[in-house]
Amino acid sequence: MKKLSTRQISLILSFIFTIIVYVVGVVAYKTGSFFLIYSVSTVIIFLFAYFLIRFLLNMLISEKVEQLAKNQLQEIERLKNLERYRRDFIGNVSHELKTPIFNIQGYILTLLEGGLEDPKINKLYLMRSEKSIDRMISIVEDLESITKLETGELKPQYSMFDIVKVTEEVFEMEHIMSKEQKISLQFAGELNKPVMVNADKKRITEVLMNLITNGIKYGKKEGYVKVGFYDFDEKIKIEVSDNGTGIDKKDLPRIFERFYRGDKSRSSGQRGTGLGLSIVKHIIEAHNQTINVQSVLDEGTTFTFTLEKAK
Ligand code: ADP
Repeated sequence: MKKLSTRQISLILSFIFTIIVYVVGVVAYKTGSFFLIYSVSTVIIFLFAYFLIRFLLNMLISEKVEQLAKNQLQEIERLKNLERYRRDFIGNVSHELKTPIFNIQGYILTLLEGGLEDPKINKLYLMRSEKSIDRMISIVEDLESITKLETGELKPQYSMFDIVKVTEEVFEMEHIMSKEQKISLQFAGELNKPVMVNADKKRITEVLMNLITNGIKYGKKEGYVKVGFYDFDEKIKIEVSDNGTGIDKKDLPRIFERFYRGDKSRSSGQRGTGLGLSIVKHIIEAHNQTINVQSVLDEGTTFTFTLEKAK
């Protein structure tokens, strides 16, 4: 059917409306003088109805058009963000990989150009190359995790386990690093019974590893990293706190973004990809739980997340 304009619709509707009024009037009062007055007022009613209906229709349509334009603008903004994000992501990945690749290239060239015969550097450069390779592996592994988490490929494999025991295992794994930095790993409060949660054990171990490693990396000498567990009805709240460097207020809202690293962390020469916390956030959100951070510069940082209590 051909589309009608608002003018045509208004005309038709006004006509129908007027005819109805007219017919009803004629049928009701069949007197001559009233007939004339009634005809004139019918014309007035027609005009009035026409403009009113047209006005209302126009209003309705412009509202619809406005809404449509708004939706379209939002969609354009979303696509632009996606494009910016993709560009940044590729830029960041290549930037992160460039350093170790160039390092390895430098070491190998030096070895090939005679360094291999030099006992002072041959082993050293091979060891440094291995370190750069380790770094590339850890970047690629982080990228793999993040991609899987973002595409929803990594659904949590729920099981019931004791989070205290898992934390002890992580403390064990972080033992050497914490010793080097002279940072003690502790539990907050007395723990005399297991704290059972229902979550993906492997992924939660990854979360604790990331948070505790950060606590050590950004800690102060002779400092601490403490882990505490608190019972909240259906949930267990887990707190990982340190008395380290703290996070600048301007960095705080961005630390969960992928590749984001605080200025201080970059300049301090601390190793990192800026992917750890975004992986942590993804894992916690995949469990339908939340994670928060509180930090005071030069005083310390506390990360708090929740897990479902095992029933
Ligand atoms: P990375 O440690 O590889 O830089 P993360 O995603 O783990 O990346 O952390 C992002 C940034 O958040 C870090 O660069 C650092 O600035 C800040 N940060 C994270 N944890 C802490 C902490 N416990 N204390 C101080 N700063 C932290």
